[in-house]
Amino acid sequence: MRSVRSHVGGEWIQGQGSGAELHNPTTEAVVATASTEGVDFRAALAFAREVGGPAIRATTFTERGAMLRAASRAIHGARDELIALAVDNGGNTRSDAKFDIDGASATLAAYADLATELGDARFLVDGEAVNLGRSSRLAGRHVFLPLEGVAVHVNAFNFPAWGLGEKLAVAILAGVPVVSKPATATALVAWRIAELLVEQSIFQRGVFSFVGGAPGDLLAHLGAQDVLAFTGSGSVGAQLRAMPNVIASSVRVNIEADSLNAAVLGAETSDETYDLFLKDLAKEVTQKTGQKCTATRRVFVPRARLAEVRDAIVDRLAQVKVGDPSRDDVTMGPLATRRQQRDVLEGIAKLVAAGAKVVTGGKAPEAPLGVEPGRGFFVAPTLLEVGSTAEAGAVHELEVFGPVTSLIPYDSTPELVAGVRRGGGGLVSSVYGDDKAFLRAVVLGIATAHGRIVIGTEKNAGAAMSPGLVLPQLVHGGPGRAGGGEELGGVRGLRLYSQRTALQGYGPLLESLVEGGKQV
Ligand code: NAP
Repeated sequence: MRSVRSHVGGEWIQGQGSGAELHNPTTEAVVATASTEGVDFRAALAFAREVGGPAIRATTFTERGAMLRAASRAIHGARDELIALAVDNGGNTRSDAKFDIDGASATLAAYADLATELGDARFLVDGEAVNLGRSSRLAGRHVFLPLEGVAVHVNAFNFPAWGLGEKLAVAILAGVPVVSKPATATALVAWRIAELLVEQSIFQRGVFSFVGGAPGDLLAHLGAQDVLAFTGSGSVGAQLRAMPNVIASSVRVNIEADSLNAAVLGAETSDETYDLFLKDLAKEVTQKTGQKCTATRRVFVPRARLAEVRDAIVDRLAQVKVGDPSRDDVTMGPLATRRQQRDVLEGIAKLVAAGAKVVTGGKAPEAPLGVEPGRGFFVAPTLLEVGSTAEAGAVHELEVFGPVTSLIPYDSTPELVAGVRRGGGGLVSSVYGDDKAFLRAVVLGIATAHGRIVIGTEKNAGAAMSPGLVLPQLVHGGPGRAGGGEELGGVRGLRLYSQRTALQGYGPLLESLVEGGKQV
């Protein structure tokens, strides 16, 4: 039996006691245990701040980039082993596992490339000098310096590799040591990545630590120079934001939480645009068994196209092969945990109680391929439908974190925009159409309620990327329900881990102070 360990204070530590059990969600067998009992989290954070902090801050962007490149290669080099763990402990198909693992190595590589652009500087200079008087004798400049604390990364169960990699890439490039904590239920992939990073001595001592199991009092020791980057449910996010030490010390907190992402179809679309809409939708409902913060939860279609779209989605979902994700013919595996399965089935029941109709799915599938009868945490791909944007308010409020989406007809563009905005703030929505006036009204109408909007037209249909693909070049996060956070976005992501300080004084002196910094 494998025991997930923690790497803190520069060494591997085995937690005491029997710990939490990690399962294979297809067979329900226990595949590992994880315990952090007895780990001294106060000391772990102090070690990262005091040993890792000075070490990473002394490096240049180029040197940090070399570490990120090595981390990217370490993950890519162990791709097959990591895929097998994701199938075993996450219920991922091979394709789902690649999405997570390749996402991690690609994001680390993208930040390594960015490091090359930033060169041999150690900090960033924000914008140009501003004259505060009539001449340059009295001037101002802004610098971004790495915070002198530790970045604690708490990740959700659905992306154990990507979540670790994307947060690590940005914090390391900014020059801040990291303590990474995956969700316990699917920690095997993240644990193996942590082992690889440590075995290959990719980071200096104290720069990378790993917590393999329950968080204990880890976050209670965060202080004014530390950062908490959290991905998970809105309810836990809200709890963490309200921790007394977080409030008292104004700990920098970034929250990536739930989202009721929408896909919008225009009234008239070319065949290419319509095909793209259907292709993206099928992927966004079933990839990772719908356990993606970016999955499409609400599908807005013109009322005149409702029947056509309903039939097309049902047809696509009928082609999904649910079963043991280790089989090549299976295209959708189980949910990650029994709790997830229960929450998804309960969530569907709540939406139905609120007025949604089940068009297809809505329950566990009869006989998942290659699975012993009665075993596994499966839910069939599910399409629900409501009568209008004003009905069944719960579809705009409850995130059902599985292969579930709701079809919603609209009668006018203003009603559509208001309906999408009822999601209360989202990570990413997608709009498909070829009419510029419609696209402008919808995109600008919903933009302030989103972190990202993907626009599908016949001009880019052949080259488009599905909305759920989070790109390192663009920001990820969203207002309101989505947590109000922002990650990635190239150099923009470094802000979370930096203090922006205004320097005010004699102009030529300021120029000498910012010398060696990289202006962005
Ligand atoms: P969760 O239950 O909120 O857990 C998330 C993480 O928080 C886990 O690592 C968990 O650790 C930890 N945690 C829980 N309680 C804690 C506490 N009191 N102190 C410190 N850490 C604590 O969420 P989940 O079920 O893993 O993930 C599903 C949710 O994440 C969905 O709502 C989804 O939308 C959201 N999500 C958002 C994004 C995004 O980028 N916006 C991405 C992925 C997922 P343990 O596992 O050890 O309990």
